[in-house]
Amino acid sequence: MTKPETRAAFQERLEHFEAQLAQALRNASRTKEDVQVIAVSKKHSAESVLALAALGMQAFGENFVQEALAKQQAVQEVLPQNTLQWHFIGQLQSNKAKDVTGRFALIHTLDSEKTATILDRRLDESVPFQDVLVQVNVGRETQKGGVLPEALPLFIENIIQLPRLRVQGLMCMPPVFDSGDAARPYFAALRQMKEETEQRFGLKLPHLSMGMSGDFAAAIGEGATLIRIGTTLFGERLY
Ligand SMILES: *Cc1c(COP(=O)(O)O)cnc(C)c1O
Repeated sequence: MTKPETRAAFQERLEHFEAQLAQALRNASRTKEDVQVIAVSKKHSAESVLALAALGMQAFGENFVQEALAKQQAVQEVLPQNTLQWHFIGQLQSNKAKDVTGRFALIHTLDSEKTATILDRRLDESVPFQDVLVQVNVGRETQKGGVLPEALPLFIENIIQLPRLRVQGLMCMPPVFDSGDAARPYFAALRQMKEETEQRFGLKLPHLSMGMSGDFAAAIGEGATLIRIGTTLFGERLY
């Protein structure tokens, strides 16, 4: 299994992260129960996932469907089924939608009605519901996924008609150059969009997925309930 030095490196990164997290929670007058950590394991091996799982991490985020399914399979050979909770956080193309249903506790990145319709149709009695977040392109970046802020109300209106998709909240990824505290206005904007959406449609949206290694403290300050942490937990990704 995991080599001792690998385990020690993971333990050290995790402890360092947990200290930062505790500080961010204190600064925001929030508690551990308010924020779920999702370890982003893209480009990292199943062994690395298992090393972190052995230290108590339960939720993992993946960006690429094929890579995710292979890793889930490898992990399942070692851990009892459903020990870990998987989140899909990558761009979801409509032609891949059929491969993700039932395999992820939460899809963070819904931004296309076509994909939503395919997901909804794929669900049935065996997997009756799929929890989703709507990704918002808060920085209006052409290379990024997400619906534009002004398109959000109509998008939500259409998505909530689909009987098997359950919209749980919003997700964003601010422009990379605005890391740390510079990202905070984007997080505040997403929180406001969530509140407006709840009012307009009479919905309760429990989740705001925002904050990564470089900016999670700012996101926690603005009400993040799910933070997606890659580099800080796994080290640098090798591409
Ligand atoms: C890769 C990725 C992360 C993790 O980023 P780090 O900076 O390594 O923490 C979080 N969210 C999404 C959507 C990602 O693609």
